[in-house]
Amino acid sequence: MSAGTPSVEIPRHGRRSEELWGEMDAARESDVAWHSGRVAALVYLPGDDVAQVAREAYLRFFSENGLSARAFPSLARFEDEVVRMTATLLHGDEHVVGNITSGGTESIVLGLKIARDKARVDQPQIAQPQMVVPETAHPAFNKGAHLLGIEVVRVPVGTDFRVRAADIEAAMTENTILVAGSAPNYPYGMVDPIPEMAALAAERGISFHVDACIGGFFLPFLERLGNQVIPFDFRVPGVTTISADLHKYGFAARGASTILCRNDEIGQYRITTFTDWPAGTYSTPTMAGSRPGGAIASAWAVMQYLGEDGYTRLTEQAMDATRRLIDGVTEIPGFEIYGEPDTSVLAFGSPDYDMAAVATEMERRGWFVHIQRYPAGIHLMLSPGHAPFIDDYLADLREAVALVARGEGTSDGREAVYG
Ligand SMILES: *Cc1c(COP(=O)(O)O)cnc(C)c1O
Repeated sequence: MSAGTPSVEIPRHGRRSEELWGEMDAARESDVAWHSGRVAALVYLPGDDVAQVAREAYLRFFSENGLSARAFPSLARFEDEVVRMTATLLHGDEHVVGNITSGGTESIVLGLKIARDKARVDQPQIAQPQMVVPETAHPAFNKGAHLLGIEVVRVPVGTDFRVRAADIEAAMTENTILVAGSAPNYPYGMVDPIPEMAALAAERGISFHVDACIGGFFLPFLERLGNQVIPFDFRVPGVTTISADLHKYGFAARGASTILCRNDEIGQYRITTFTDWPAGTYSTPTMAGSRPGGAIASAWAVMQYLGEDGYTRLTEQAMDATRRLIDGVTEIPGFEIYGEPDTSVLAFGSPDYDMAAVATEMERRGWFVHIQRYPAGIHLMLSPGHAPFIDDYLADLREAVALVARGEGTSDGREAVYG
């Protein structure tokens, strides 16, 4: 709620539930039509059968709380198995430890906390810890760094939109406690040079976090499909922690990601324990206290339902949709894809056009557009379920571009604001 809005109170008398459903459905009428592929981000489309499994599992464990393994050993088992399955997928061994978190942001904040607390022990001489990340790293790194008192240095990418390990090295100081890279990054969908970057961290004995929020449940299957993938997981020496989102390409219900630590020596720093409480000792391995049983159950069920072949098939569908989109975009004179995206995440645009006007015309045609700030363009994160809508999207894009070329398309002046 923003300041100045009239006050709203709990109704004096309770209302009938049927009345609420009507009002809530009416409220969602102006929401983006995600089920018709009108937004390429925020909602992931694995197909109705998968979504149904995710929903059913969530509702089955709707009331249970992941805070207590003693009360709900079922959830403890699901969480443990999700962590183990993810660790194996990302080539970790039996020493890997981790947890399910509420999302990529929490997983990243935990990665940062681990690095900070480990450095307090290993490098006690550092008064002001600092971390080095590419400029493409997710804003969650700055959110976490702010909370934890870590300084962030963001290193610019080259003209090919790739960060150079040499530039990362040049930004490192004696106060650097953590280096991080993305697999892939959000803005351009490209995997950072993780092996070279992690080697820099390993040489100095400091932490290295891989943000595989997007790629954790995508890149391994892309590799199975025979594609060359830059090594980004526990196969890479020096990688200490990895975040991988279950609620993105893991296709689980929202509110689920993983934080994985190479071993318990590293993983111990994710745990917070408070012993001086009248109610007793309180210890949690994540930021959250109470945790939704539904999100944990949903992640386990979807992984079991899809299996490796299911994920591989969905990855193939998402990449087919992406290739068709890339072909269609690059056929429009003057248009290009920014960089060489490794997955189904990409940005495109053209220096010859007012991209804000193109974006506005696309929105007028019912598409929810994320404007890319640099270079000016449009950002997309495609799901397998976008495949049927690619032709419509391209037809509207060609029309929008033609309109702007004739000076008839207009911008509503919007800027690149995420969300
Ligand atoms: C989505 C995303 C995050 C943050 O995840 P949330 O689940 O939105 O908190 C972090 N890194 C990358 C690369 C992402 O795409």
